[in-house]
Amino acid sequence: MATTDTVLRPDHASRRRHFIFTEEHDQLRESIGSFVEKELQPHAQEWEESTFPNWVFQRMGELGFLGLSYPEEYGGQGGDYYCNLVLAEEMTKSNSGGLAMGVAVHTDMATPPIFLFGTEEQRQRYLVPAIKGEKISCLGITEPDAGSDVAGTKTRAVRDGDEYVINGSKTYITNGHRADFIVLVTKTDPDAGYDGFSLFLVDMDLPGVIREKKLEKLGMHASDTALLAFQDVRVPAEAILGQEGKGFYHIMWELQGERLIGAAGCVAGAQRCFDRTLEFAKERTAFGRPIGRFQVIRHKFAEMATKIESARQLVYTTAWRHQNGEYPVREISMAKLYAARIAVEVADECIQVHGGAGYMKEYGVERVWRDMRLNRIGAGTDEIMLDVIGRSYGL
Ligand SMILES: Cc1cc2nc3c(=O)[nH]c(=O)nc-3n(C[C@H](O)[C@H](O)[C@H](O)COP(=O)(O)OP(=O)(O)OC[C@H]3O[C@@H](n4cnc5c(N)ncnc54)[C@H](O)[C@@H]3O)c2cc1C
Repeated sequence: MATTDTVLRPDHASRRRHFIFTEEHDQLRESIGSFVEKELQPHAQEWEESTFPNWVFQRMGELGFLGLSYPEEYGGQGGDYYCNLVLAEEMTKSNSGGLAMGVAVHTDMATPPIFLFGTEEQRQRYLVPAIKGEKISCLGITEPDAGSDVAGTKTRAVRDGDEYVINGSKTYITNGHRADFIVLVTKTDPDAGYDGFSLFLVDMDLPGVIREKKLEKLGMHASDTALLAFQDVRVPAEAILGQEGKGFYHIMWELQGERLIGAAGCVAGAQRCFDRTLEFAKERTAFGRPIGRFQVIRHKFAEMATKIESARQLVYTTAWRHQNGEYPVREISMAKLYAARIAVEVADECIQVHGGAGYMKEYGVERVWRDMRLNRIGAGTDEIMLDVIGRSYGL
């Protein structure tokens, strides 16, 4: 409390944690962060060439990091949604966007629908080994002719006695080459519009599942990205996940969690890039002074810091709504849009501050930019986020 004889000084070094987090979250952060720095980060460069190995899932399963918010009865840690945010944030310490994405697809995209919509048998068969890191998952929404427009899905599942027969293809599927199973979006009734979709749990070793091509990308090189084909793949009727005909709504629900986690990763990644660049700007000299002392450069940091902090507050407040039982689709879309945009802007500006060094692989800043660039496309493009937000006002 200020009095007339107190001199108040700005509290720039405050390390007070955000109010959504507790002491337990801090401990979790510490243990995930030190694991990532010791066991994953040293391989970041190597995995850009080879993609990351499957033992990462087994090791993270052993450590309990793949089921942070799932109940203990399924092998989870019984934590809250904020634990998933902590994981997404700490994974950025791997310095590998592709690795962080591969793990997030498993923890926050493919497995949540199994927990929410799955039968007890499906949970035991897929969720429990996924939490242990014994089975790797992927999520198949996008098709060569249906990306933003999910309603254009062509993959068909046709009932045949006690089975369904699946035909179609999926593209850009993260973990598609390594996965043991896929959460697959299909149409079971092409004439029923949004009520004609169904999700399936499909084992990737079934006859007719073809991992066609490893796709080459601008960034996220540590992840594998697949083009998949499904040719007369027979699955039992029990492979349907959730209600038949409600797959569209189920997957729209899944996308909300995916987008918020992606936004948290963007903020944390942007912050790391900012921190490293700040060090650089204090050390690198030109015209007789550290470059950070030029007002132009100082203002770049001020702009970046303000954007990062605004995005962080938006993500945390939206996570708080989500944790407290709301379904804040508008705010999640805002958080995803804004965090992805500013992360790319920050990475771009960090390259600029580094000068020629920023363009060199050695400094790792160009990789942040390449990896971050995906976030304006994946899990719903900027344009789709704007449309969701705009429509939420009745337009
Ligand atoms: C590296 C990577 C990993 C991915 N991982 C997965 C995964 O694991 N699983 C999965 O299912 N998908 C995955 N995706 C797919 C991703 O979600 C899609 O690429 C994304 O949804 C966009 O779809 P699209 O590529 O078909 O683009 P399109 O839908 O063809 O869009 C092309 C352009 O048109 C714009 N556009 C489209 N519709 C509208 C509209 N109504 N209004 C205004 N503009 C519009 C878009 O914003 C975009 O600019 C991944 C993609 C990449 C690149």
